[in-house]
Amino acid sequence: MTTAPLPHHPVAVVGAGLGGLTLARVLHVHGIRAALFDLDAAPDARTQGGMLDIHDDSGQEALRAAGLHEEFLDRVHTGGQAVRVLDREGTVRFEESDDGTGGRPEIDRGELRELLLGSLPADTVRWGAKVTDVRPLDGGRHRVTLADGTGFTTDVLVGADGAWSRVRPLVSAARPAYTGVSFVEADLADADVRHPGSAEVVGAGMLFALGPGRGFLAHRETDGSLHVYTAVTAPEEWLDGIDFTDGEAAKAAVLKEFDGFDERLRALVADADGALVPRRIHALPAGHRWDRVPGVTLLGDAAHLMSPFAGEGANLALLDGAELGLALAAHPEDTEAALAAYEARMFPRAAASAAESARGQDLLFRADAPLGLVEMFRGRDD
Ligand SMILES: Cc1cc2nc3c(=O)[nH]c(=O)nc-3n(C[C@H](O)[C@H](O)[C@H](O)COP(=O)(O)OP(=O)(O)OC[C@H]3O[C@@H](n4cnc5c(N)ncnc54)[C@H](O)[C@@H]3O)c2cc1C
Repeated sequence: MTTAPLPHHPVAVVGAGLGGLTLARVLHVHGIRAALFDLDAAPDARTQGGMLDIHDDSGQEALRAAGLHEEFLDRVHTGGQAVRVLDREGTVRFEESDDGTGGRPEIDRGELRELLLGSLPADTVRWGAKVTDVRPLDGGRHRVTLADGTGFTTDVLVGADGAWSRVRPLVSAARPAYTGVSFVEADLADADVRHPGSAEVVGAGMLFALGPGRGFLAHRETDGSLHVYTAVTAPEEWLDGIDFTDGEAAKAAVLKEFDGFDERLRALVADADGALVPRRIHALPAGHRWDRVPGVTLLGDAAHLMSPFAGEGANLALLDGAELGLALAAHPEDTEAALAAYEARMFPRAAASAAESARGQDLLFRADAPLGLVEMFRGRDD
């Protein structure tokens, strides 16, 4: 009995996050078709949540390459670049409004993803397609197996599948490690009406309210809600001891870590609507890289997961996707040259950002917090 050959895709991308979608878009602009596979059942299967500031020299550069910069600017959250830094007593130690010249406009993550998705032919992404196995074949090709038992082969396999990438083991044995920081995320809906005190303390953009080893990082979203990252430097097991199915008990357990913080800050958790969401922050080793492996590469978090304390991860994913697309378009007959050229630029860029993220983590949670952050913002303005 002969079995039918598997479908073949010249370029296959695992993961339709910001990085994978940008790659597909840039290839599309250059007349190259990519097939994307994502485990989410549908584009709206998960709320995308959160605001992202998109940097002029990385994320916005990528959107220019994708021919989407104008559309991006139309979706920017005016006022979102405002920033406030408070100490734990609630005293404002630094404040800056958004005068529109910041070079880091804010966009809702879901809107950015929608913009990228809408710019691709409708059948580019196969949803509900969880990759469970990837194997090298001869000549740099790969065979990919999905959870439903189907599969395909490809000449160029791109792992854009985030922190816990299934593709990464083809090139590297590295695994993300816990950074020592745990987040508990909270949302306050319709803040101006339902939570005016919290709306005022967060302001129009981003709030950092910090003490030694902990703090509240919060921002206003485009729908008028507040999104709060409660950050605690804690052992990896700390979150295991909290029952997140019991909302009030979870709030009390988290707030125990914030004794001595001003009541207006504690209210960001005490008054939260809906369930609190735990999240441990992991990172790959700074400077993670690999030797060239024929026919496969990684981008975004799959390549260089880092803590979010430099606000670079999504920007890098966008730029990686754009640069990989441009490299493949520039070397249509020589995939290996394209992948090598892409990696040669990506590795040092990611290493520098990973180091910056690690420095950002130290600075935010220093014993004299929030002084380090205040000095950083003042220095940026000088
Ligand atoms: C709390 C927090 C706050 C952050 N804030 C910022 C910020 O302000 N600014 C910033 O620039 N960055 C920020 N980041 C980082 C940013 O979110 C990531 O760096 C960025 O989303 C990475 O994009 P990506 O495309 O590489 O991966 P992802 O966005 O993780 O996308 C990966 C995709 O792959 C899919 N996938 C995973 N496994 C499989 C599989 N086996 N098969 C098929 N599909 C799969 C997933 O469903 C997903 O759609 C933050 C991160 C966190 C955790």
